Amino acid sequence: MAGGDDANDRRATRLVTGGRSGDFAQHVVNPPVWRASTHLYADCTELRERKAHNADGQFFYGRRGAPTQWALSEALTALEPGAAGTVLYPSGLAALVGALLAALRSGDVLLVADNSYDPTRNAATGLLKGLGIEHRFFDPLDLEAYEAAFCERTRAVMLEVPGSLTMEVCDIPALARIAREKGAVSLVDNTWATALGFQALQHGCDISITALTKHVGGHSDVMMGAASAGERWYRRLRLGAQQLGHVVSPDDAALALRGLRTMGVRLDRQSATALAIAEWLDARDDVAHVLSPMLPGTPGHAIWQRDFTGGCGLFSFVLKGRDDAARCRLVDALRLFGIGYSWGGFESLALPFDVEPVRSVMSWPPPGWGLEDRHAIRLSIGLEDKDDLIADLAQGFAAMNEG
Ligand SMILES: *Cc1c(COP(=O)(O)O)cnc(C)c1O
Repeated sequence: MAGGDDANDRRATRLVTGGRSGDFAQHVVNPPVWRASTHLYADCTELRERKAHNADGQFFYGRRGAPTQWALSEALTALEPGAAGTVLYPSGLAALVGALLAALRSGDVLLVADNSYDPTRNAATGLLKGLGIEHRFFDPLDLEAYEAAFCERTRAVMLEVPGSLTMEVCDIPALARIAREKGAVSLVDNTWATALGFQALQHGCDISITALTKHVGGHSDVMMGAASAGERWYRRLRLGAQQLGHVVSPDDAALALRGLRTMGVRLDRQSATALAIAEWLDARDDVAHVLSPMLPGTPGHAIWQRDFTGGCGLFSFVLKGRDDAARCRLVDALRLFGIGYSWGGFESLALPFDVEPVRSVMSWPPPGWGLEDRHAIRLSIGLEDKDDLIADLAQGFAAMNEG
């Protein structure tokens, strides 16, 4: 059986069967890397007939996609309940900006969660502003202030959960409901949990965006993004991507599809290791705060438990009373953690960051934090042995405290 995308299949099954039905599979397990820019038409009549026809699954010209990309889109759509389709973009950021451009016109106002991914903020304050689209940052944990931030020109709300770096969990169903009542489209950056751990459309959002670069690719060797939506918004996203000329290569689509097949087991393992490490860090005197919604007792844990069916290996922690030099001693001493951007790969990464400079309206320091609590480290936990990672962190802390 080459993949019946049965609506009743459980999520782990869909990871395996998605996008393998129909013509894409061509009687092999993985859809072949199908390379082409040009379709050759039989005659002028066929050429003219096809031109008017702009449907997925009909090869017209390479920029509109081809079987390898459609197989990936279908597999992602099968994972997102409520989605009519998925548009692929050359990066996660391209997906975010492509979706915002599809949703907004000059004169519109965009509300942006203050703890959004920094490049999302920059798109609002830079590119979109230049196009005459206004923005307002809001605190996604303050529903009253959020509701008050709407005006009659507010057309879209950009959400992200958990918040970038600081990992707050906002009440997406409440935020999305208010957006809908006000006539605004809600977009959510769902890269952290993916559709496997958080069903964004089911929780009221209109457009669910994922940087496939992270968990779907999963091996730190492909850049890609996706946006999934119900019928109405899928059409607009697709048209917008066609007008912008977005297309991903079939080789990259095949890599993302390969990553997708094992994403469930990777996320399960990485979540379990990350939780164990978060608990280990939480018990240390030199750690002020562990920022992980998966850790019981942290702010946002209750909402995470209510709305999410899974987590991942990404979380942060804040050092207690240590300066930047101490933090660098810790990070530089790590042997199993690479130092770098991105996350969600099979290998562990560490990234030092300061919270304060990337917030506009959220309170500083956050409730329960001291003013000195600002030197933080984000960890992306990979597939290494948990005890090896803890031992590595232990020697990193020793190097920090010896300095
Ligand atoms: C990395 C990331 C993106 C952007 O993805 P790229 O593929 O690097 O462009 C978007 N959102 C979040 C939350 C991310 O972590």
